[in-house]
Amino acid sequence: MDMKIGNTLPGGYCNSLTEYSRWHTREVTIGSVPMGGSNPIRIQSMTTVDTMDTIGSVEQTIRMVEAGCEYVRITAPSVKEAHNLAEIKKELRKRGYTVPLVADIHFTPNAAEVAARIVEKVRINPGNYADKKKFDQLSYTQIAYQAELERIYTKFAPLVKICKEYGTAMRIGTNHGSLSDRIMSHYGDTPEGMVESALEFIRICEDLHYYNLVISMKSSNPQVMVRAYRLLVEKMVAEGMNYPLHLGVTEAGDGEDGRIKSAVGIGTLLEDGLGDTVRVSLTEEPEFEAPVAIALVNRYKTRQAAAYDQESSSLGQYPYSPAPTAHVSTEVNTFIGGSLVPRVVVDISGKNLKDPAILTDVGYKYDILLDKYHMGEQSVDFVYLADKLPSFAMPGNLKQLYDYRIWVGINDKTNIHPVYTLAEFVEANLRDTQINLVRICRADLSTSRFEALPLDSTIVFVLETNELHGMADQRLFFSLLAELGLENPVIIRRQYPVEEFTGPQNDLMNPEEPVSKLQLYAATDMGGLLIDGMGDGIWIDAPSIPVDKLVSASFAILQATRSRISKTEYISCPSCGRTLFDLQETTQMIRSRTNHLKGLKIGIMGCIVNGPGEMADADYGYVGAGPGKVTLYRGKEVVKRNVSSTNALDELIEIICGDGRWVNPE
Ligand code: SF4
Repeated sequence: MDMKIGNTLPGGYCNSLTEYSRWHTREVTIGSVPMGGSNPIRIQSMTTVDTMDTIGSVEQTIRMVEAGCEYVRITAPSVKEAHNLAEIKKELRKRGYTVPLVADIHFTPNAAEVAARIVEKVRINPGNYADKKKFDQLSYTQIAYQAELERIYTKFAPLVKICKEYGTAMRIGTNHGSLSDRIMSHYGDTPEGMVESALEFIRICEDLHYYNLVISMKSSNPQVMVRAYRLLVEKMVAEGMNYPLHLGVTEAGDGEDGRIKSAVGIGTLLEDGLGDTVRVSLTEEPEFEAPVAIALVNRYKTRQAAAYDQESSSLGQYPYSPAPTAHVSTEVNTFIGGSLVPRVVVDISGKNLKDPAILTDVGYKYDILLDKYHMGEQSVDFVYLADKLPSFAMPGNLKQLYDYRIWVGINDKTNIHPVYTLAEFVEANLRDTQINLVRICRADLSTSRFEALPLDSTIVFVLETNELHGMADQRLFFSLLAELGLENPVIIRRQYPVEEFTGPQNDLMNPEEPVSKLQLYAATDMGGLLIDGMGDGIWIDAPSIPVDKLVSASFAILQATRSRISKTEYISCPSCGRTLFDLQETTQMIRSRTNHLKGLKIGIMGCIVNGPGEMADADYGYVGAGPGKVTLYRGKEVVKRNVSSTNALDELIEIICGDGRWVNPE
């Protein structure tokens, strides 16, 4: 090894938990586009057409490059496709495109050894490079484990030597869903297992004096993914390594859910200065992925360190805990906090408050005939009306929030609660007996006004920030609050001014701007806290975004952080050259009949080779088994093999019904 960088980082797994700076990794050569070191965070994606379709692959690669991809990955399932990478590369160079190509390898060392002589980088999955996953050996003695490592060394060393000789880079890309039996036997499918899976292969590379490595720790569960990357950094630093990180949430799905899941995972790590390249993985055309990755990464171009005069020794105490306990709160009158799921607050003060139909946007559908409201899984808990009074009766279970000075004057305060500034609450003559929301920011904690705050169990803090590095600022607040021994619930509020969502830079995000940018920002800012167990509620304040979009984004963030489940979760692969059916169409078809099954996780995977492993913790799986054929899974167990795709969805629903997990849609 040519460097040692010490054995701990000041922030544990990053440079600092409060000040923004990128973790400095070693520079890796990947064709003409180096990664790591002081290079920008690179953008990349993967083709979906058959690798044997040379022109199709070339044209899709060009579309991806035009969309902003700096590396393009292409699957090489066998030696035949690996050889065809030479044709694709030749045609691209002929057309003037020098983009580095990456071969994606699973199970086939011989394909990797061919590809490594052709393309600029090879991605291998340590879970299946030298192993066939059989789920049949569940315990290994130390001797058997060691023998396995020696077998892997023998199988893997030839590829390393080729990469060294040809100057080819390598990504050691661990996936949560496809860990080897050996790793599973010792660690289970845990972040620890994911990290060790990569370290085994890194150590072999280092033993052979090969360091042109990039590492990834992907999972479709952002919480697992974030913990695995953090742990990886900590372990790498302890072993004197600083390889660049490739960030991604695998099988994130499509549309809003796919974007929000990706942002929760990727954005959380970017906030901590981790990540040298990003691949957003959507079940959509691959050229739609780069703009999302660019929007995530661009936020850090101007991010600067901000030093605070407050410190907290307990900050970051639980970065890898399986049961986050970063913020313990006490329940306030069954409204919020304690073991209750995080609440959703939305501002409707700008709506037409003469029309009860406006509440449809916040999940309360008004039935004129019955003169009542219908609620759903995504009905918000609190609406903020500022100083505007509606001229219709609100639903009985919807709590209304008013500015304190207005609330004071309202006679019937049933379901009506005040929002104070800190100064107002300290000086207030009248306080609510049930719940008092007090706006606060981190710096307030060290003021005399905060010292004068009459603390009681009805207070819920509405945590705001004006800091550019806002997630870290709010994280510090939670830590300081814990040090003060305060268990009041906290609603995370983030404000996104109108100007942030207008202007030419938003063209990047077409066709869905400005909503998708809001999804990415809010998912990063709030997801980064919720994923660590901080936050009893969220309040996205973005006046330029329609209210129904704010509601939908709020619930999607809670779902992605697994803190409040309100809908079906789809773990769908982005598709690649192995895909056996139209993933976008199939996902939509499955969604149209199952999207009312709250809490169920359905995996939709394009191929039987990787699909079953990659769908990780899905409850049911719909996996391409051959042309026109689908294999159906319950967890990891095959229930029906090679079903015709014409009736595969009906059969899947039958299985769900048989398990007693089906409910009829309303
Ligand atoms: S699961 Fe999907 S993305 Fe992964 S290899 Fe199979 S078809 Fe390709």
